[in-house]
Amino acid sequence: MPKIKTELSNYNKQHLESQIKALDAFNKLSENEICRLKWLSLAYIKFRRELDSFTKGLFYNYCNHACFKNRQSKCCGFESIMTFFADEILNIIWGGPEKAETLIKVLEQPNESNHCVYLGEDGCLWYLKPLSCAMFFCEDAKKHVFARNLNAEKLWTVFTKCEKNFTWPDKPVLFDIVEKFFIIKKGVFTPHMYFHLSPGLLKVKKESCCYAELPAFF
Ligand code: SF4
Repeated sequence: MPKIKTELSNYNKQHLESQIKALDAFNKLSENEICRLKWLSLAYIKFRRELDSFTKGLFYNYCNHACFKNRQSKCCGFESIMTFFADEILNIIWGGPEKAETLIKVLEQPNESNHCVYLGEDGCLWYLKPLSCAMFFCEDAKKHVFARNLNAEKLWTVFTKCEKNFTWPDKPVLFDIVEKFFIIKKGVFTPHMYFHLSPGLLKVKKESCCYAELPAFF
């Protein structure tokens, strides 16, 4: 008989803590601050929309048929995703607080599936799914798509370079700035603030002498 999980795993607990703190911080923002955070992340949203069109246009049919319909959903594996605080807060800022409430509700239950805790009946429960998920295609999918569309692989290379403009902190990047704003101005700290916690990312910042400044309007 399968063992029934009654306790939250550490992974779920960390996600729950970070999502609750993100929602709480969002609820305390002024209208003005929300507008400024939206303005700050506009280029990122544009990037995500273009990435979505690329994904839907080129990968949707293959992924839906090969993996989602038969409920394998291999890319949404159990406790395998990395989410940043910026993923969490931008999901709320652009999708609304009810999106975070949905995620918090599933995180409050032990994950008894073999898949990511955020995978619902109709797919991912996020409004703006984590960037690491949006940028992930398995080797089989890439092989299938790139073999049929010569341009797709070139476009994919462009997307992987663009991603770094938001996340690779050898220069001021959105994900780091967002964390910094909530740490310094709002006193929020969560286990998913990797730009201030991850030894690897801190090393990149140190070596490039890049310490993102908050924009003057904050
Ligand atoms: S967050 Fe969404 S896209 Fe990412 S692994 Fe989980 S269900 Fe899949």
